[in-house]
Amino acid sequence: MSGSKLELITDNIWIADGFDLHMPNRTGTYIFNEEKVTLIDTGPSISVPHIKKAITSLGKSLEDITYVIVTHVHLDHAGGAGLLLQEAPNAKLVVHPRGGKHLIDPSRLTQGARAVYGEVFDDLFEPVVPVPAEKVIQKDHEETLTLPSGRTLVFLDTPGHAKHHFSIFDKRTNGMFVGDTIGVHYVEAWKHGREIYLPSTSPNQFDPEAMTNSLSSILSYKPSRIFFGHYSASSNVENVRKQISYWLPIFVEKGKEIQQQGRNHEDLAKELIKEIKAYYKINHVEEDDLLMKAISSDMLICSMGILDYLAKQRA
Ligand SMILES: [Zn+2]
Repeated sequence: MSGSKLELITDNIWIADGFDLHMPNRTGTYIFNEEKVTLIDTGPSISVPHIKKAITSLGKSLEDITYVIVTHVHLDHAGGAGLLLQEAPNAKLVVHPRGGKHLIDPSRLTQGARAVYGEVFDDLFEPVVPVPAEKVIQKDHEETLTLPSGRTLVFLDTPGHAKHHFSIFDKRTNGMFVGDTIGVHYVEAWKHGREIYLPSTSPNQFDPEAMTNSLSSILSYKPSRIFFGHYSASSNVENVRKQISYWLPIFVEKGKEIQQQGRNHEDLAKELIKEIKAYYKINHVEEDDLLMKAISSDMLICSMGILDYLAKQRA
């Protein structure tokens, strides 16, 4: 296990870096460190040792975990849930109504991820352990969950990135946990003096219209802080809105151009990266810098999702 990183964000909400893709600042687990412990997103199984270490550092044990909430069932958010639950005997898993069955039987999920990640799948995601059905709680749109501390969470159905995606509003901090619904926060950009948010349009349920509606529905709660799946939180909510609303139509338009030219997702990724570098004036940032590595790998996956969506529109 590489290093560990645990940071307090606000009001007993911590983030543990899960070193997804073996990179720092990519994917995190939020920990509500109260008398009992609630987690939001586990990351993949390779992140579980980091979560265990974080819980110990906070003076808690795995027996203290009452809820493990997953924003959606993509393996970089929920792939480690089954493995963690094996060691957290008192924990229930909270998931979107469309997601539960895929964690109880993860075969379709792993098949889909293998198609996207190819030969690096085993290294990044194995093992994917099924979650026992009796541990699963599903939450529909606007249902709530009251934690043992009295903190109330509200669940919002927020499709666009995936149909099995909800966002979670924490009334106490006025914060919204959005998973991948309204994009990725590139924290590595800060060291270059930039603030960067880009849509996350992974295959194979990307739907730009649903994503736009979900953005509106999230903003209708007037959150003062957005907790991203990748990575950490931002209080610059207006900037998040501006950037995601700016890029989403560009991603789709560029996709249409590439599709009409009969080119592939790698070509689309190159085009998007070019646009992104120009817009944020980051042409000077080296390719092996963590910021560019993250953007490049994300744009490959985003491009697959955009072309997949456009192909379905034609069909
Ligand atoms: Zn996702």
